[in-house]
Amino acid sequence: MGATKGVAVLGSTGSIGRSTLAVLARQRDHFRVVALTGGRNAAALEAQVAEWRPAFAGLAAGANGAGRPSGPDVLIEAATHPEVDVVVNAVVGAAGLNATLAALRAGKRVALANKETLVMAGELVAQAACAGGGELIPIDSEHSAVLQCVSGRDAGLCRLILTCSGGPFREWSAERVWQATVEEALRHPTWRMGSKITVDSATLANKALELIEAHHLFGLSYDALEVVVHPQSIVHAFVEFCDGSVIAQVGFPSMELPILYALTHPARLPDGGVRRFDPVAAGPLTFEPVRGDVFRALAAGVAAGRAGGISPAVFNAANEVAVAAFLEGKVPFGRISEIIERTLDDHTPAPAPALPAVREADRWARARAHDYVRRS
Ligand code: NAD
Ligand code: MG
Repeated sequence: MGATKGVAVLGSTGSIGRSTLAVLARQRDHFRVVALTGGRNAAALEAQVAEWRPAFAGLAAGANGAGRPSGPDVLIEAATHPEVDVVVNAVVGAAGLNATLAALRAGKRVALANKETLVMAGELVAQAACAGGGELIPIDSEHSAVLQCVSGRDAGLCRLILTCSGGPFREWSAERVWQATVEEALRHPTWRMGSKITVDSATLANKALELIEAHHLFGLSYDALEVVVHPQSIVHAFVEFCDGSVIAQVGFPSMELPILYALTHPARLPDGGVRRFDPVAAGPLTFEPVRGDVFRALAAGVAAGRAGGISPAVFNAANEVAVAAFLEGKVPFGRISEIIERTLDDHTPAPAPALPAVREADRWARARAHDYVRRS
């Protein structure tokens, strides 16, 4: 690679944000940090600013800290900064959507961890990329795996099987899962992540978000997208081609590899920061079907994906509200999937030709899901 590329890290104080900075610290010859945004944690952002001295830094969800710009628009400012080539969107939830759209319209590469963006408005995101010449590269480990399997093999992609750890409740009875505590839900067996995605991994709503994400990224119908439970999280995805050949990508669980690949794709850079793969140390690899009757958020989300239009935005918003209510102790774990199902049952499917329809669906679904939380 030639001159250094400018990077904006949105959500730099979170789990993916910090992993991104760990990767960039090893790749200073190739990348420089131009912009950083945090949510509410001013102290964490200031520590990063002191280390990286970015041209721009702001707090997107908190009060003005240390005289820095604050409010949701800092995401747009960081994402469209003229010195930025790559925007790592590591914001959690719907709050990341405007920045993804703005960055793509400004012709940037978006290295996307913020999967909720694609779920809410997949077609609009694709249109923004087309209009502005931007490109979208996934950070999610399963989607990075697929991209790595298909890169340079542009013909005959036929079916994807995304793996899923099964979460902390993989073997629990339905009754026990219903009553799971916040502490139990946050104890993920193989990945250390932010609290929202950790709960999504326990309900399997995360896999529904990922199937919708895969549909938009790789252009396959939902009939060609599958999930298999793989408790060791070593195989990240299987890609089947039209002749029946299957290619998989493997590695010990670490988000630093997919983050680096999203920065360098289709090239690669030498990097010593990630534990080298060792098949013997990885141990036996096992695969099992999803228990769809226990983890109902998966089927609800896939149905919303199949319906298309505003329905995935409704699914995403209901899930965000239900997960936040669970984390605040307002509803039991089992209510999360019920709130998602009921909110989806109540909505009227409709096309989502432009952003206002998505915004309105998001607003309506949040209000409806809050009603269900209050009645719990
Ligand atoms: P996190 O909670 O650790 O970090 C979220 C970041 O977003 C923080 O910097 C926070 O300050 C910021 N933020 C929160 N609310 C905001 C708002 N309203 N506006 C602007 N910024 C806000 O979450 P995470 O685990 O890093 O996940 C980030 C995204 O990456 C999620 O979409 C998640 O699904 C996805 N993802 C995470 C992992 C992982 O290993 N952590 C893996 C795959 C995908
Ligand atoms: Mg994933």
